[in-house]
Formats: sequence, C-alpha cells, structure tokens
Amino acid sequence: MSPVTHFLSGWVLANCARLDRKERELVTFACVVPDVDGLGIIPELLTRNSAHPLLWFTLYHHSLHTLAFALIVAALSYAFAAQKWKTATLVLLSFHLHLFEDLLGSRGPEGYQWPIPYLMPFSSRFQLSWQGQWGLNNWPNVAITIVLLSITMWLAWRRGRSPLEMISAKADAALVTTLRQRFPAGCNDAE
Ligand SMILES: [Zn+2]
Repeated sequence: MSPVTHFLSGWVLANCARLDRKERELVTFACVVPDVDGLGIIPELLTRNSAHPLLWFTLYHHSLHTLAFALIVAALSYAFAAQKWKTATLVLLSFHLHLFEDLLGSRGPEGYQWPIPYLMPFSSRFQLSWQGQWGLNNWPNVAITIVLLSITMWLAWRRGRSPLEMISAKADAALVTTLRQRFPAGCNDAE
C-alpha cells in the first residue's frame, strides 16, 4: 500500500494506547519505515534512460521488509521511549501491520507481487506473498485510506490531536479547533 495508507494505519494504531507524543511518533513511523528501501526509485527513475541505469529500486525494494529490520527498529524505539516495553511492542506490531498491508494490496502495475523476504539476510527461502493480492492503485486501497482518514479526523475531534502534532503544535491545535467548531457536540475526550 502507499506510504500515506501505512502512515495513517500507524497513527490509528498508536492512538489505541496511552502514549506520549514521541512514542506515538515512533509507533506511527514504524508503519512507514520498511519502505525506506523503496527510495531507490528516485535514482532508478532519474537514470532510466542513461547509459548506466541504477536499478536500486528493482534490486532493493522489500529488502528491509524483514524480521531483522523490525527488531532493529523496535530496539531503537525501546531506547528512545519512556514506556519502553509498551512502545517497542507496539512498534513491532506497527511494522508487521505494514507487511500485512503490503501482502494485501501492493501488486505493481506490471503485475509483480513483491514477495516479502521475511527472514533475510539469514534465509531467502521464506518469501511471503498472497495469491489474491490486489494492485497498489485498486479501489480497496482507496477505501481503506478513506476509512483511516475518517478515523484520524474523528481522533482529532475527540482526543484533540492529529498527526500534525509531529510538525507543528499550532497547526494541530488549529485543525482540532476547526473540527470542534464545526461539530460541537460530544467532543473533548478528557484524557
Ligand atoms: Zn512496503
């Protein structure tokens, strides 16, 4: 699925527990971070028509969609979080939510399934894929993204925070105020 869908999934998951702002950030980013291995798309596209194209996306995409990387990310979160075990556990869960979402719907336009080499670099035998996988741009992904976005707005209205808190407290507060003015009844979850 797209990074936006992963991001929103991580955010919703992070809001299922009582975490502080930094811990929410760690759990949210754990749902996006496997896709840093896809950044090779940029040099690959840029060099596509050159004499020496760099096939970094083709070669490395999904190379960090592994248990080993999940454990590294969880260990880093453990180091940075105040509620260490709780955050590290949710980070592991969030990372695996990303893998699950990729299994569901990330088939490329060319039909390639991008199997997940879960046990790499220790074993290349175990490759996760699902026959019924739908395409990256198919409607279920759009529907899931709309649902997640609605939950995100509901959380902002009810709990008084949105992913904007990661960028600017002011922007976050402005969004919450707007939502609460628009829908005044029932907001203000005492938390
Ligand atoms: Zn992915």
